[in-house]
Amino acid sequence: MQCEICRKKVKTKKNIINLFHPEIHHICENCYLENPLIPRLEILPIQEGIIYHHSMLVSRNKLSGLAYMSMMKPYYIDFMKSHTNNLFIYQDQLDEKLYHQMDSLKLGDIYLLTLYENIEKGEKL
Ligand SMILES: [Zn+2]
Repeated sequence: MQCEICRKKVKTKKNIINLFHPEIHHICENCYLENPLIPRLEILPIQEGIIYHHSMLVSRNKLSGLAYMSMMKPYYIDFMKSHTNNLFIYQDQLDEKLYHQMDSLKLGDIYLLTLYENIEKGEKL
């Protein structure tokens, strides 16, 4: 499998325990060390609800969302365990336009997962 950022082959050390485990990561170790996963939760008020905004990266570089696809599993599990009545939305980033759209639609509580923090306009809404 290739790394989605640098296009080099992702190598995993195989031993007797993980010999038959499938390759699920689309990012190599060097790229992950440069852009590590830094989970962050932000609670944003909207009309008739709350946005639970989870962001995964702090990076200022535009990275491929596919590289971090395998790291979304804990968020899916969290959503299924404790936010099943909410709406799950995935976006690359939350900008002011998207926030106002979700605010005006009155969808209730929203579980929003974004790849980046708000990188436009100084990270604030
Ligand atoms: Zn890489």
